[in-house]
Amino acid sequence: MPDTPLSLLNRIFGYPAFRGEQAAIVDTVVAGGDALVLMPTGGGKSLCFQIPALLRDGCAVVVSPLIALMQDQVAALKELGIAAEFLNSSQEGATAAQVEREFVSGQLKLLYVAPERLLTPRFQSLLEQARVSLFAIDEAHCVSQWGHDFRPEYLGLSALHERFPAVPRIALTATADTATRAEILTRLDLGAARVFVASFDRPNIRYRIAEKSDPRRQLLDFLDEHKGEAGIIYCSTRKKVEETADGLKQAGFTALPYHGGMDNDTRRRHQEKFLREDGVVMVATLAFGMGIDKPDVRFVAHLDLPRSVEGYYQETGRAGRDGEPAEAWMAWGLQDVVTQRRFIDEGEAEDAHKRIGHAKLDALVGLCEAASCRRVALLSYFGEASQPCGNCDVCLNPPTLWDGTEAAQKLLSTVYRTGQRFGAGHVIDVLLGKTTEKIERFGHGQLSVFGIGAGQTDKVWRAVLRQLVVRGLLEVDHTTYGALKLTAAARPVLKGEETVMLRAIAAASSRRKSRLAPSSGAGVHDDEDPLFLALRTWRRETANEKGVPAYVILHDATLREIAARRPATLAELGEISGLGTKKLEAYGEAVLGVVAEG
Ligand code: ADP
Ligand code: ZN
Repeated sequence: MPDTPLSLLNRIFGYPAFRGEQAAIVDTVVAGGDALVLMPTGGGKSLCFQIPALLRDGCAVVVSPLIALMQDQVAALKELGIAAEFLNSSQEGATAAQVEREFVSGQLKLLYVAPERLLTPRFQSLLEQARVSLFAIDEAHCVSQWGHDFRPEYLGLSALHERFPAVPRIALTATADTATRAEILTRLDLGAARVFVASFDRPNIRYRIAEKSDPRRQLLDFLDEHKGEAGIIYCSTRKKVEETADGLKQAGFTALPYHGGMDNDTRRRHQEKFLREDGVVMVATLAFGMGIDKPDVRFVAHLDLPRSVEGYYQETGRAGRDGEPAEAWMAWGLQDVVTQRRFIDEGEAEDAHKRIGHAKLDALVGLCEAASCRRVALLSYFGEASQPCGNCDVCLNPPTLWDGTEAAQKLLSTVYRTGQRFGAGHVIDVLLGKTTEKIERFGHGQLSVFGIGAGQTDKVWRAVLRQLVVRGLLEVDHTTYGALKLTAAARPVLKGEETVMLRAIAAASSRRKSRLAPSSGAGVHDDEDPLFLALRTWRRETANEKGVPAYVILHDATLREIAARRPATLAELGEISGLGTKKLEAYGEAVLGVVAEG
């Protein structure tokens, strides 16, 4: 019987069914049509070109900008018994020559290449000699000049279509916005392509956004719920990366730093360790993550505010690619906003760009302050309507609102009476009626507002202040060291014409072990299950012997299903998702052995 997309999915990949639009995309490309695929991270883009590559005559050429990613994808394909190779600068000449020969003589089904290599005269001549089944352009948003991942070589990829008009092309990206989408279509000359837009929801990711109070403690509390799991912690500066990684090591975590100031060797070593070993926590600047397709990252934490909702979504999207429950946690504070505003204003960009920078930051701060479902807010930012999710901090633990009109008036008056020349710290000291050197020097103890806020704590005042800034009643002037100033929007509040509802600061109860099952997704894990742990140990040893990341052998989800179902025969084992023929053959007996002992 000839193979069909579904039979290959079952037999080679060991998965029972296609997800979402995968089947339609595969059909389009198998039939020789072009496609543009917009799917979130973890959505399952790779299968969309891997299965057509297996079904069509010749070899698929996959353009991928990231060497590390290429190697892992090729390793994973080889594990499935698929003839796949890559060509990139990390190889020796002899190895590359061998791969080129196999490509031209038709022995390969998939060949991964970096864009700069693809456009060389040498490779172009190989393309003429070989039989190419399709071109897959991964991370297609790299063609967009406005995006942050622009790669000039991607612009040259439109030439592929001119030279090989009969070869279908499939471009894939996880970047959703309409401007980037339009740019991909024109720049890659994909006008006739079918466009597939998947939902950008990542239901297995739980979003949690907290106000910074004691960030160190908050982080440890968060990590307490993620012991032994792999995760990424983002910090804005190299120094903070180093300090955080050190602190976590002392607290007993396997934590590694990663930032642009480290030498290449150490960075590579850390990345490898993160990819290959279980339960490593990577503490990194934003330099880390692009092209990390480790499926079992269980959490992404932000210790500082990212620059935009897009950035936040991309970074948090690195969690839970395998569809298993994962968490995105962020701690943010007013200082983050002030620092970023200064950063934008002091930058070299033109005014129009600065305005965009501020608007993007506003949107993100809006998300942080949201008193309704985070996911609804996130998805609507990307133009998708949805219902409250039941799997974010707001849904699980709705914030209480209180009438903060009087508090707002007190705070605004204090800013006004002290001359709109002071930052948050001093203003709050005056409200609380403290006697500091600064208060004495400026005679602020004599003001009518001195001590009018003594009924509330410092923490409450900070939360009030932050919300007034975020809502535009106060602005922080960073040209004068963060002096607070009233805006026109403060007037009606001061005059009692407008009420101000504020979010109460989250009580420490957010610490409560709230590891509820997400409303959709795989449910709660019992990671203490000794059989699961034994399978993980077996997998680690096997992966080490082969020199590949653990997930290339079998995914966590597959190990969990094995642990839960305890198959006794190869036939029973074969029913589990994620075990194709080749893997059954290679590991079936060993896995059954672990199950029998466990
Ligand atoms: P993307 O490139 O879109 O981020 P991947 O192609 O890496 O996502 O797929 C994410 C994960 O989902 C992988 O572990 C992959 O094996 C798995 N996956 C993809 N399609 C299916 C499917 N139809 N059934 C089960 N698992 C799938
Ligand atoms: Zn929600």
